[in-house]
Amino acid sequence: MAKRDYYEILGVNRDASDEEIKKAYRRLAMKHHPDRNPDNPKSEELFKEAKEAYEILSDAKKRQAFDQFGHAGVDPSMGGGGGNGAGFGNFSDAFSDIFGDIFGNRAGGGGGRSNVYRGADLRYNLEVTLEEAARGTETRIRIPTMAECDSCHGSGAKKGTEPKTCPTCGGHGQVRMQQGFFSIQQTCPKCHGTGRFVADPCPTCHGGGRVKQHKTLSVKIPAGIDEGDRIRLSGEGEPGVNGGPPGDLYVQIHLKPHTVFQRDHDDLHCEMPVSFTTAALGGEIEIPTLDGVARLKVPAETQTGKVFRLRGKGIKGVRSISQGDLLCHVVVETPVSLTDRQKELLREFEEISQGNHATHNPKAQGWLDKVREFFAG
Ligand SMILES: [Zn+2]
Ligand SMILES: [Zn+2]
Repeated sequence: MAKRDYYEILGVNRDASDEEIKKAYRRLAMKHHPDRNPDNPKSEELFKEAKEAYEILSDAKKRQAFDQFGHAGVDPSMGGGGGNGAGFGNFSDAFSDIFGDIFGNRAGGGGGRSNVYRGADLRYNLEVTLEEAARGTETRIRIPTMAECDSCHGSGAKKGTEPKTCPTCGGHGQVRMQQGFFSIQQTCPKCHGTGRFVADPCPTCHGGGRVKQHKTLSVKIPAGIDEGDRIRLSGEGEPGVNGGPPGDLYVQIHLKPHTVFQRDHDDLHCEMPVSFTTAALGGEIEIPTLDGVARLKVPAETQTGKVFRLRGKGIKGVRSISQGDLLCHVVVETPVSLTDRQKELLREFEEISQGNHATHNPKAQGWLDKVREFFAG
């Protein structure tokens, strides 16, 4: 049988890069892998063919020899070509090289425990006030955790009994399974990889060896933290399985609504009611800031919607280089609960303003003009 061209087998050009060759091989190997095509001799053939092509083309020396002399240059039986001891002797290396990161490296020494997992990451939602977020604080949180069971000291076996070696896997935690061409290792279904078997489970932990408890952790909240920020507490997540490292705990920050301020990144916004006389005549008013009360000059003829910016009275974000601003939005307040005297004065004010509407209320006048135009049009 004539051997097919290695480039043709992998479906790549003769000038393909190493990366392209590796990719092409991965694709074919995944497709034709015997684990996925049990009892399919055609797939097995294609798999072996692709593997051989990859072994040659992924080796610069052998690839050069193949380019120059064709199959004769690299055929293991001819002993020619580049490096020695390669060819099929290299099979397991090439295998683990490619599949090590696809299927997880199961090829380790027999009895190795591959069922070691990192614990899951956990999330804790923490509400903080705006003041706490601005200044930073330290708080304590209580989180659920799994701790060693006191009754059985973690063994999972009832008092007075001991866990036994798992009869299914003989304590290895792994069993060998024949799958078509390949023999693969799997986690033991009876003991789930622990290698031990509890006949009489501990009633406190139901044989798990661990019980649910709570632990209290101290969390440092850095100044400037904002809604949605996360603080990572390394290793405070769920414990690992079979000696694996624990996960992390993420403290997710939520800001409580504030009665006065709304936060927008580093800036703060607040509504500032101004009496209509102060708005008209000008004056000084007190406004709240996170550092206490500040005084603000309101110029004469200030209108609703005017925004006063107080530089540096906002928040300095965790990643910011400067402090944000406080933006005060003016709302001119119509006076209520007027006395007779006040009403009298306002009527008098109205009377002497008659005929000068356009001067004193340019906005209202402009609006009236537009309304007239609308009905005339
Ligand atoms: Zn127990
Ligand atoms: Zn077992």
